[in-house]
Amino acid sequence: MIPVTKPFLPSLTAFQSYVESIWTRQWLTNNGPLVNEFEREMKNHLNLSNFLFVTNGTVALQMAIHALDLKGEIITTPFSFVATTSSIVWQGCKPVFVDIDSETLNIDVTQIEAAITPYTTAILATHVFGNPCDIEAIEAIAKRNRLKVIYDAAHCFGVNYNGKSIFSYGDVSITSFHATKLFHTIEGGGIFTKNEHLLDKINVMRNFGYSGTDTFSEVGTNAKNSEVHAAMGLCNLKHIDEILENRRELYNFYKEHLSDCDLQFQVIQTNTDFNYSYFPVIFESEEAMLDCKLQLEKRSIFCRRYFYPSLSALPYINKKDMPICDSIAKRIMCLPMYHTLSKIDRALIVQIIIDTQQSFIRNRIAIQALESTSDPIVTAI
Ligand SMILES: *Cc1c(COP(=O)(O)O)cnc(C)c1O
Repeated sequence: MIPVTKPFLPSLTAFQSYVESIWTRQWLTNNGPLVNEFEREMKNHLNLSNFLFVTNGTVALQMAIHALDLKGEIITTPFSFVATTSSIVWQGCKPVFVDIDSETLNIDVTQIEAAITPYTTAILATHVFGNPCDIEAIEAIAKRNRLKVIYDAAHCFGVNYNGKSIFSYGDVSITSFHATKLFHTIEGGGIFTKNEHLLDKINVMRNFGYSGTDTFSEVGTNAKNSEVHAAMGLCNLKHIDEILENRRELYNFYKEHLSDCDLQFQVIQTNTDFNYSYFPVIFESEEAMLDCKLQLEKRSIFCRRYFYPSLSALPYINKKDMPICDSIAKRIMCLPMYHTLSKIDRALIVQIIIDTQQSFIRNRIAIQALESTSDPIVTAI
């Protein structure tokens, strides 16, 4: 069976030696030494001074919205994981969708200003599949309209934009270290902000609002992460170059072999060091995508419709047509991407896709010929 993803696993011995140190100290959570070490190493690795390790990316989003004290409407993308929208609603704000760009799959910056109202307080944009948004345009719009900017950078570990970590942009950036992501801590998330005051506030918020023994300065929640999760992060961080290199190879293999297939690929932003973490393919129709997905499933290869459905179709959202997103969400799927995907399996995946696409196109041409022909014999069939 070939699933769409498998978590990266470091050597068991490396993980065990961290676990033994946890046993020796008997310190499992609450700002322990491994959490501190992980935060330090992460800041070094990313060359950033402000990072907080939290329980997951969803809580990171919720805390970002809460800490910025956002109210009213938040402009966001309908093409993302459900947590991007649900976090806005969870915090009592209203998501206002702006359609996406059909090539980058990120929020279409040319449509943002038309969606701003007197109630708008922020833009929450996702760097979809690790592809940086049009950051300059978003910052300019935010400045002109006095809006805050949060980036959902859950897919972005290893991405640099203009030579800096992608996590350094926006008022706040968040990421996810969930097991399905390129870099993971089993469960986990990160919050990044240049604003020291905001960072202190979120630091207090993630620990119930404790600002000292028996003092609470904020409404808090419990978003601290544990020593065991930090241990997994420390192990995996040692392999990050190898993980990124492996993804790049796999991505380029897919791209090269599928280039003649009449499929559309995501266009990556310029000035980007990309992480190649997903391989989304967009078919000409939902029917073509489903046909290909089925042929792969017959050989126990499981792709994922990601992201589907469009978030504008969520039951707790006022329905609004997002023509580009609605159309792409129906036609897109992500191919298997994981560290241990073998060369033989990669080749099998592309072969099945090529064969299915060819027979799909042959059928279409035959049907078109039938429909357009005036030859009485063919028409009679
Ligand atoms: C995974 C993901 C999240 C949520 O992260 P968790 O750590 O799983 O809570 C949020 N946004 C996007 C775009 C994601 O892919």
